[in-house]
Amino acid sequence: MNNFIYADNAATTKISPEVFEAMTPYLTEFYGNTSSLYKIGRENHKVKEEARRKIAELIGASAMEIFFTSGGSESDNWALKGTMRRLAAQGKKHMITSAIEHHAILHSAKTLEKEGFEVTYLPVDEKGRVSVESVKDAIRPDTGLVSIMFANNEVGTIQPVAEIGAVCREAGVLFHTDAVQAAGSVVIDVKAQNIDMLSISAHKFHGPKGIGVFYCKRGLFPANLIDGGAQERGHRAGTENLAYIVGMAKAFEIACAELEEKNARISAMRDKIQEGLLDIADSKVNGDPDNRLPGNLNMSFAGVDGQSLIFDMDLAGIAVSSGSACASGSMDPSHVLLALGIPYHMAHGSLRISLGKYNTEEEVDRIISTVKEVVSNLRNGN
Ligand SMILES: *Cc1c(COP(=O)(O)O)cnc(C)c1O
Repeated sequence: MNNFIYADNAATTKISPEVFEAMTPYLTEFYGNTSSLYKIGRENHKVKEEARRKIAELIGASAMEIFFTSGGSESDNWALKGTMRRLAAQGKKHMITSAIEHHAILHSAKTLEKEGFEVTYLPVDEKGRVSVESVKDAIRPDTGLVSIMFANNEVGTIQPVAEIGAVCREAGVLFHTDAVQAAGSVVIDVKAQNIDMLSISAHKFHGPKGIGVFYCKRGLFPANLIDGGAQERGHRAGTENLAYIVGMAKAFEIACAELEEKNARISAMRDKIQEGLLDIADSKVNGDPDNRLPGNLNMSFAGVDGQSLIFDMDLAGIAVSSGSACASGSMDPSHVLLALGIPYHMAHGSLRISLGKYNTEEEVDRIISTVKEVVSNLRNGN
């Protein structure tokens, strides 16, 4: 994989060597069950609680508000289903989300609709922003929950989370945010940003896949999603994956510590690619040019098929994504791009480049020249 360039960091990231090193002792030597009463169990329990404390501190929460889950999808499911199923007893049968959420949110909302709940899907503007006013206007007396993502995974748009949270608090409605893309790239402070619940996934910031965090403000107890043993203080059963918990805490600690330096470097590379690719005729940047994740670049090229674009980029040794990759097998363009009002033919020819901390200046030049060549070839019918 000598000449391979990975530019799909919004899909997942490589585990960093420091994280791998922190994790391995818990896969090999320290394998005790954190619930066991003997020494190798008790000591692992302490390690787990230290990871919890560290993660809590990094988002301005307290340790008891942090629950370990299997990742972003589980945390999102828990927030929506757990909260609404609990609130149904109080007559709250309505929730609000946006049209551009990740499928972990949208499909959870669909499940709730089948159970008899009502869901409002707020539209976004052409930059992918949810307006704070629209949230306020959509809140009804029976609204229990608002869930708006912190930053979008396809176009990178960052939402006015603190303002939306303030509106919810004022109205006495709970506020959840899917912060899976934001964590490690944007500063999170659950208190200052008025967040009641939040989802994080380790593999989006150089931690392992299959582990995440559900932050849930003290006193709120969504109904359990996974019943069984008494782990996570009885709220989420299953023997803890300590190696991954340790890896996640380490990865999050590193990501938060290097956030500023990393963002400056990554966004400079992103801007250079954007400038280079705007040379291509009939090209357009999708999303919000100002309020965007540092590594995200989503562009459309008229008259080009997104799937072919990804395929040819892959042949040239560059991994990128398209607005149709998430729904692979389906030819429909992404629900996110369509919600931004991007015409079908432009949404169809979309490309998402998502840079991470391991991308280099040399790679930037090769990405630019390869995309130009591939788009030109596809337009010429070869
Ligand atoms: C990746 C992602 C998820 C899903 O997280 P997993 O840990 O892969 O389940 C949810 N929401 C957003 C915004 C994501 O980017």
